[in-house]
Amino acid sequence: MSALLILFVMASAAWTILSLYLSSRQIDAVSRHRDHVPADFTATVTIGEHHKAADYTMARERLSTIESIVDFALALAWVLGGINLLYAATAAVIPASLWRGVVFLIGTAVVGNAIGLPFAVYKAFILEQKFGFNRTNVKTFVLDRLKGWAISLVVSIPLLLACLWAMRGFAGLWWLWTWFGLLALMIAAPTVYVRLIAPRFNTFTPLSDEALRARIERLLERSGFRSSGLFTMDASKRTAHGNAFFIGFGKTKRIVLFDTLLQSSTPDEIEAVIAHELGHFRHRHVIFGLARGALMALGGLAAFGWLCKQAWLLPAFGIPFHDDALSLFVCILLFSVIGPLLAPASNWISRRNEFQADDYARLSVGAGPMISALTRLARDNASTLTPDPLYALVHYSHPSVPLRVKHLRSSEGVA
Ligand SMILES: [Zn+2]
Repeated sequence: MSALLILFVMASAAWTILSLYLSSRQIDAVSRHRDHVPADFTATVTIGEHHKAADYTMARERLSTIESIVDFALALAWVLGGINLLYAATAAVIPASLWRGVVFLIGTAVVGNAIGLPFAVYKAFILEQKFGFNRTNVKTFVLDRLKGWAISLVVSIPLLLACLWAMRGFAGLWWLWTWFGLLALMIAAPTVYVRLIAPRFNTFTPLSDEALRARIERLLERSGFRSSGLFTMDASKRTAHGNAFFIGFGKTKRIVLFDTLLQSSTPDEIEAVIAHELGHFRHRHVIFGLARGALMALGGLAAFGWLCKQAWLLPAFGIPFHDDALSLFVCILLFSVIGPLLAPASNWISRRNEFQADDYARLSVGAGPMISALTRLARDNASTLTPDPLYALVHYSHPSVPLRVKHLRSSEGVA
């Protein structure tokens, strides 16, 4: 075993152990507070709802610990012979060409998907079902998967072909060209998603509630926001979880409300949710997020470019073949152990953005409706109100609802 391979296995093991430790802390914190609704919520959350949130959070966390262990086993299986096995099998069918590389890389994704499938089935039909969130049926589930895979193939085959072609043709600077391609994809993605992909999964209908529409339009006008439409999405086809999102840039910006949100919330709360999303736009979080993502992709690809040039890379992983696709896959594996180092920083930025958006909502519609909307979302989605602080620091992309409510109250000067 080479030093690099030993380092890789140790780093993967360390992340898995850390993630199991954090999960156990989270389960412990939730279970310890299971019988007490936090003081700020005694008037709005019943003990039954609090129990449900605790049990749901713990059930999901237990599942994710099994997933972490399976992910670790898969990473081990890849580096301890799996890569060679899959590559030799691909090489037996496809002669040396760019296509062999593409098929090999897609093969690695197929293996990952196949292993993730039982978890997805369990999540939808057992876990979500048990807590009353599942609305999907076998037919929708199977169709979703097939459509998702078809779209992934349509997007990834040309991208992989172009990337492998650039690796061969532009030798030293292939990573820069790949980055340009990726950048174009990142910029086009929201529009493509809204126009071509999302409609294959859900039906979008213009918001029909006239009073609510007029109210939201007044809010948009006050904030100087132009959108190309207010839509509702039939999320209830799959789930009972409620949500709302803004998507797209410039003229194609759309506001989408889940029908599940509309069914459960008051107009005040819906207005607050939209004001919060407007806050993200006002503070340019979407553009900054995109710029951050593009910079990180540039850094990552530059590192890929350097690594792929090193003659020791493949031998260090015991790979006797020569193919750029293999170097690329090894880089992806290596980055899977570096990624967790960056996640807490990006989550920290994301949580700061959430507070800014909450402040924007407070100034537009007042703290009251925002607090009430957050409480309802936490209640309807069975989110825990008592997370472990360390777990939240590492994993949460949104501050916990109690922290957000506290922040809104203190900014408003309400005790
Ligand atoms: Zn937000």
